[in-house]
Amino acid sequence: MKELTIAGQPIRPGEFKEININIARLPSRTQIDTPIYVYRAPVDGPTLALTAGMHGDEINGMEIVRRIIDGGHHKVLRGTTVCMPIINVYGFLNYSREVPDGKDVNRSFPGSRNGSLASRVAWHLTHDIIPFIDVGVDFHTGGAMRTNYPQVRCVMQDPRNVELAHAFHAPFTIDSPFRPHSLRQTAAKQGKNIIVYEGGESLRMDAAAIEEGIHGTLRLMKFLQMIDWAPEPKIESRIVWNSSWIRARTAGIFHPQIQAGDLIHKNQLVGSITDPFGEFREQIKSPVTGYIVGLNNNPVVNAGDALMHMGMDDFCKLHPGE
Ligand SMILES: [Zn+2]
Repeated sequence: MKELTIAGQPIRPGEFKEININIARLPSRTQIDTPIYVYRAPVDGPTLALTAGMHGDEINGMEIVRRIIDGGHHKVLRGTTVCMPIINVYGFLNYSREVPDGKDVNRSFPGSRNGSLASRVAWHLTHDIIPFIDVGVDFHTGGAMRTNYPQVRCVMQDPRNVELAHAFHAPFTIDSPFRPHSLRQTAAKQGKNIIVYEGGESLRMDAAAIEEGIHGTLRLMKFLQMIDWAPEPKIESRIVWNSSWIRARTAGIFHPQIQAGDLIHKNQLVGSITDPFGEFREQIKSPVTGYIVGLNNNPVVNAGDALMHMGMDDFCKLHPGE
């Protein structure tokens, strides 16, 4: 069997190893380590990375990876799993998306060994993880008090990326080009395929989104022939080609009348904005036919704030006015 080394540590067939990556230390001198759990099956196969907590407040992703480890699902029959439940330990400790200097790790790739905190965290992933994997799922949630209906984001122009997203089979599969300086883009430059799973809201446990994330991961493992059984998807995955935001036309209190995941028809009443003093109520109608793939949960809105993220699949394109 070929040799396998992850983050400088050799992993033998049938071996499980906890590897601690030392990122930096806090101003109090406390060292900050982040653990990576690597399991190598006795039989060769692909190496799959499951990463979460790039944004430190996105707990659903951490919980998905935690339950995969807790349930023993990382101990696959063939290949290797690399589980990293908390990439951004600083953000996790501070209930925040970013690292303490306000930078976003997922806009800091490929990173720099001696750069800012975000860039150091990115550097470790670029050098200690990406070169040794074949495929990855990076788990995220909605931010800024917005919830994302369970969805996989992939690059539709990349057939392998689409294949992986299809195997995961989340309720929505959304075309999402690479963001500059993101993990996905940096991995793609090394010929590695990473898809992003989004489910629920930051700092809120979302049982359905967590379950979808675990089931999707098992389906992906089965597709990669790492395991033999995975739960069948309950619904068809809607392929979303384009998406747009419905924004607040006025400031006030937002009252949605729909739920994330709903199919909305053009001109359908989706909610209203009132002022807090009972003076006015402005109704919000959808300008498009589409699915609610993301929804703002913050009732206090300013003009221009994003209220609902609408995703359009082939059905919506064929029935734009219904
Ligand atoms: Zn995120």
